[in-house]
Amino acid sequence: MLHSDILIGGLGLDTKKTSNLNIKTKDNSRNIPHPMTFNLILNHQATFVVVLVFNLAMIGAAGLFVYESWREQESRAIKIGLLGIAAHNFFVFLLFYSHVFQLFLIFYMLVCVLFVAILVIPGRKNSAVLKGTAGYVVGEVLRFDERDIVFARNENLVSGSEQYSQYYEKYPERKERDDKRRAKGGHAGKVGSIDKCPPMLVNMVAGNASAAHTLVANSLPQIPERQEPIEMEPLQATEAIKRWAIHLGADLVGVARIDERWIYSRKGHIHASHSMDNWGQEIKRNFTHAVVIATEMDHDVMYAAPHTPVLTESMRNYSKGAFISSVIANWFTQSGYEAVANSFKYYESLMVPLAIDAGIGQFSRMGYLVTEKFGARVRLAAVLTNMPLVADKPVDLGVDEFCQACKKCAESCPSRSIPMGDKTVKNGLLRWMLDDQSCYDYWGRVGSDCGVCMIICPYSRPNRSLHRLVKWLLKRSPLARKLLPHLDNLVYGKTWKTRRPPAWVNYKPQ
Ligand code: SF4
Ligand code: SF4
Repeated sequence: MLHSDILIGGLGLDTKKTSNLNIKTKDNSRNIPHPMTFNLILNHQATFVVVLVFNLAMIGAAGLFVYESWREQESRAIKIGLLGIAAHNFFVFLLFYSHVFQLFLIFYMLVCVLFVAILVIPGRKNSAVLKGTAGYVVGEVLRFDERDIVFARNENLVSGSEQYSQYYEKYPERKERDDKRRAKGGHAGKVGSIDKCPPMLVNMVAGNASAAHTLVANSLPQIPERQEPIEMEPLQATEAIKRWAIHLGADLVGVARIDERWIYSRKGHIHASHSMDNWGQEIKRNFTHAVVIATEMDHDVMYAAPHTPVLTESMRNYSKGAFISSVIANWFTQSGYEAVANSFKYYESLMVPLAIDAGIGQFSRMGYLVTEKFGARVRLAAVLTNMPLVADKPVDLGVDEFCQACKKCAESCPSRSIPMGDKTVKNGLLRWMLDDQSCYDYWGRVGSDCGVCMIICPYSRPNRSLHRLVKWLLKRSPLARKLLPHLDNLVYGKTWKTRRPPAWVNYKPQ
């Protein structure tokens, strides 16, 4: 019998004759056992259709995966996707020749269906994560003193000044390293030094930074402009502010009830336009709520990590955050409430804990916030106020469990600042601790703010169909949180290789 005959049987043109696994010959005179007696698939119309749909779905999904991987310049994933399609087609081809393979195919289909079914079964939520920042507290938490953070020490403690002497008398062990880092320059040392300071990009950094500086210099509206606060239902006010923040350019927005532990105890990072008299001042306010906003760092520009385009992107987002937060803070004060914008070089609180309590994302191994839509590719800003608002609930995206097995950020960090091991307790908090000093030293060496950990994180992949599906699985299935980090490492590899960013941010010397 020709293959075309087999196919015709499979398509059901002679189903009565073929359904009993004995195919009658054309003259119908004898029942001869057909050599394809076990042709389970091709001789049954329904089975054939199921197999056909399954194959098309597999090839379609693999094709989409290859296409997306090509857009994301994931060369290893492209190879694996193409290999998968080739292997699958070869397998289907064998189907026409051997009943053994047909049985195996049925087994393979069942395993695939079962695997997907298991992955979509919802499991128990992580109750600690759903408590927000309170879920990480295991002991007494002392409020953080902003004078201790690396940015404040580097940018405000000028040799010979009163603050300099005061600080290093208290912490002499920090002096030598800080002096060395200070000698390299500000936030990112000599901007763009890794790329021989390409003028076009250095000027883009300066353009964005200067806009952010101007906004921060003029954005300390803490005193209500009117005596009588306007009356608004908290829910109505919350919804209006959230929609407005998005309209102004925020990509994510949430509201947190303020936990005092995340408000700095004393001021330490003083914007150049503000008075150094504020250095060391106690921060005492009666703010009750924080409107937290996140803006997305462009995925394609971040491909250049750790090169200069990343710094242009950071500064673009700092200036966006400064704009949105200062507009909203002004609205609060115009409406008779106290408020203060927290953004680029002016902070009264820690941003990541506020964002967690505002339901925007979760803590991660790299110490940054990981959000559902953009992973770690965000910059944060906030407005603290005493206007009554409705707080959001913390979210569980599966990051805690995923990070246990993933470790991509730690493997790729050029300064080895991200821990490979377990969480540790510091200041009453159980979490992975980023070594911010060595990370900041690295920025000073390369003249950019690196961003490798942000872009390599699987949660940071573009917010498109396949990645959205994976994140949906991670949100509901404990098994997915355990299995997918290993699969991700296998398909995408564990370490970062810089990719080609858009041509308009070309950083390579001409
Ligand atoms: S920004 Fe770079 S140096 Fe800093 S922790 Fe991330 S990968 Fe490491
Ligand atoms: S790269 Fe992996 S380990 Fe690091 S934060 Fe992202 S998910 Fe967690």
